[in-house]
This record gives sequence, C-alpha cells and structure tokens, in this order.
Amino acid sequence: MNQTQIQLFDTKSRQLQPLQSSDGKKIRIYSCGPTVYRDAHVGNMRTFLLGDLITRLAKYLGNEIEFIQNITDVGHMSEDFVEDKILAQAKAESKDPFEIARTYEGRFHNDLKSLNITAADLYPKASECIAMMHDLIKKLIDTDHAYLGSDNCVYFAAQSYSSYGAISGNRLDALKPGHKFEYTEDGAKRFHADWALWKAAAGRTEMIWDSPWGPGFPGWHIECSAMSLHYLNKFVDLHLGGIDLRFPHHENERAQSNAAINSEAVALWVHGEHLLFEGRKMAKSTGNVVLVSDLIAKHLDPLALRLCFLENRYRSQMDLSWDSLKAAHLLIQRWREKTAVWRLAKVTDTKPAVSFIDEIINDFTTDLDTPRALQKLRSIEKAQTLSDGVKLEIFKVVDPLFGLDLLKPAVVKSQLPQELQKLLDARSVARSTGDFVESDRLRDLLAKDGIVVRDSKDGQSWDYLI
Ligand code: AMP
Ligand code: ZN
Repeated sequence: MNQTQIQLFDTKSRQLQPLQSSDGKKIRIYSCGPTVYRDAHVGNMRTFLLGDLITRLAKYLGNEIEFIQNITDVGHMSEDFVEDKILAQAKAESKDPFEIARTYEGRFHNDLKSLNITAADLYPKASECIAMMHDLIKKLIDTDHAYLGSDNCVYFAAQSYSSYGAISGNRLDALKPGHKFEYTEDGAKRFHADWALWKAAAGRTEMIWDSPWGPGFPGWHIECSAMSLHYLNKFVDLHLGGIDLRFPHHENERAQSNAAINSEAVALWVHGEHLLFEGRKMAKSTGNVVLVSDLIAKHLDPLALRLCFLENRYRSQMDLSWDSLKAAHLLIQRWREKTAVWRLAKVTDTKPAVSFIDEIINDFTTDLDTPRALQKLRSIEKAQTLSDGVKLEIFKVVDPLFGLDLLKPAVVKSQLPQELQKLLDARSVARSTGDFVESDRLRDLLAKDGIVVRDSKDGQSWDYLI
C-alpha cells in the first residue's frame, strides 16, 4: 500500500491538513448534495467533482471510504425565505413536489455519470430522514441549545454555542439583524441570529410532517447535521461543499452537530470555489446558466468539462467558456488518439514510468494540484526521451485519478445528414469554379445548421460550430 497522505486545505483552521480516518477503518466523507428543484448547472458539477477526485485518490492510495451525499428535497428556502424551492417549482410546472424532486434527482445522477463522477455510497433524501431530524432537535432542546418559539417553530439558540463563526469568521457579535439568515420581526426568536430547526406548517399544506411541536417541515441546516451524524456514525472526517455554503449553512450545521455530540463533529471542512461562465456568475437572470446537456447538444464530450475543471485548482475561482470547452474536447481526442498509437509499440521496460507516476500522485495529494498534474501529462506526451510503452504505462496508471477515459478509442465524427452533405458538396464545386459568392452563401447556410466549414490546401473540412 502506498503510504502517501492526502493534504487538503481546511477552511476552519485555514491551513493544509492531512485527510485521515479517525476510526482507523474508513475515511468518512459527507458532501452537501443538490437541491433537486432544477437541473444542476455546470457550476454545481464543479463542486460535485471535488468529492469524486478525493475519493478516487483516497481509494487509489489504499483507503476504505464511506461517502454520503444528501439530496435536499425539502426545506431549502428561496433567498428571501418566503418559499420552499421545490414547492415553488412544483407550482411553476403544475406538478406534485415529490415528482419534481424525483425527476431532477434522476437527472442529477445522469449528469454525474456523464462526467465520470463515481456514485456516493448513499444518497439519503431529506424527506425520508424526518424522524432522525426530530431526534436531533429533541436532543438540542433537552440540552438548552434549542427552544420552541412563540410561532411554534423550533429555533437553535446561536448564543448557546460559544465557538460559532469558526469556519466563516462571522462571529455572532458582528452579525447584524437580517444579514443572510432567517429574520423574523415578530419576536418569535430570542436572538436575531437564531435559525429554525423545525418550521411550523402555518398554512402550508404540502411537504409537511407531524412532529412533537406540531405539523411542519425541517430547516435546511438541520438536515445535513442529522444525515451526516446518522449515516457516518457520529463523526465526519471530511465535509465538502461549495464556498457559498461556508456561511450560514456550514456554520449552522457545525453548531448543531457539535452541540449534539458535545465535541467537534467534523475534522476537515473543504470548500470548492465557484465557477463563472464567460466572466459572469451563472444565474438565470444573466441568461448564462449552462447544463451538461448543453455540452452534449453541441457535440462536446462531457469529459471536456471535467478536463476544464482539472485545469484549475479547486480553490480558485475559474472562468469557463465555450472556447475552453472546445480546446479541452480536442485535447481529450488527441490524447486518446495518442494512446491508441502507443498501444502498437513493442513492449518495453516500463520501470521508468514509476517516477513520473509518483510525481503525478504527489501533485494530487498536495491539495489536489490538478493543473500541475495535467502539465506533467502534456510534457510526457511530448517527451522524446520516453518510449511509447512508457508513455502508455503512465497514462494507463494515472487515468483513474483524472477520470478522463484517456485509453478509450477517440470518437469518430459522425456523418453529416444527407441534406447538409449536399450543401457541403455544392460548396466544394462552387469553390473549384471560383464562384466565391455562392461558396460563401453555402457556408452561411451550413453555419445556420451548426456546421463550420474550414478551407485548407487539402480542400474543405467541417466541424460542429460551438
Ligand atoms: P444547490 O443545488 O443550489 O444546493 O447547490 C449544490 C452545490 O453547488 C453546493 O455545494 C453549492 O455550493 C455549489 N454551487 C452553487 N453554485 C456554484 C458555482 N457557480 N460554482 C461552483 N459550485 C457552485
Ligand atoms: Zn448541507
């Protein structure tokens, strides 16, 4: 077994920390999962890739892993805390809220598969874990960390947890009323930064459950405390999520979990930075939300997205564009073509591969320095001092860490539909007879159908327009 240890940047201690198993058996990992009211966009996928990269690496190094990712299908409220995201979408699509949740959950799993993201061991759904949330809330009430408000909601008493703010730096005495946490003006809460663990139904008729405090539904933060502690046996070696979850979601989760078990419940908090698209935050209002299905519709290999993510350190904000996706698509194709050629090489001594492989593993274990690891692959591809057999051996051994399927056959471009092939042929004739007006007209027609034509000394060639 390789003894190399994985170092990751822990948001709470603000330094690199080793990832290790606290029970000496398995590394227990929890990742906040999707809120299934819409398709996950490629930004969400960047965060979900983080769990896959770490579990692939940890398994490769010989560790046993228990990886849980929840499905938030109730309780995640809109930014203004007025409406449950799932219920709002159910209304918009005139569907049952559970149907909405199951539909988008299914699509989330398909997106994961497209990106070679290995499935977690379990995807508990919040709506199916209500009893364990009740148990946790009861415990927090019994230990004076929570109380029943005058509006029949149960609140966590933020001031009862003295080290609140350790992850995000948002200490309670600096938090102003109304700042990014649920704020009620009617005095139901004792302190403005307290948050709801259980919300009274108060007129809501769907997605509600009976409870010791009356009918209602859970708060989003208590869901992750309950599911992580329950499914990972009361301790989390690594907790993952996007950077926006640092506060208040993870700060509140930490207070709840730690108060419940009376000690630190999570060893490492690791956060992935956000993805921008063409320079801007991805948002419906900006019209730049990109889905995995959009890549597929443009005939791009979805693994091109994975490669783009790997080109950037997970802790840096990154900007994605169609150009970078296209370049990544071509690079994957090129590497697959290369490995196909290298396979034909005579078997040679592959011992020289070992030191290169070790260096790449070292890049991964050093806080997932994937850009550096990719740079090494580029140099190895071009190295004149390495035999094809050694190059193949390196690519073969490290490909499971990158998850790019670099030993798969390169995809052959499909044939053009007949009517487009006719336009292409007519353009070739126009060019050969010097009729450039007609040739340009045909090129524009093909562009309308998403085909770009390029001219070279060998004639014309086509590609999908991206
Ligand atoms: P949600 O489905 O909104 O609950 O988000 C699922 C995950 O995606 C969370 O861990 C978020 O922090 C993360 N996330 C949301 N937007 C982005 C983005 N633009 N880039 C990277 N991660 C994101
Ligand atoms: Zn969560």
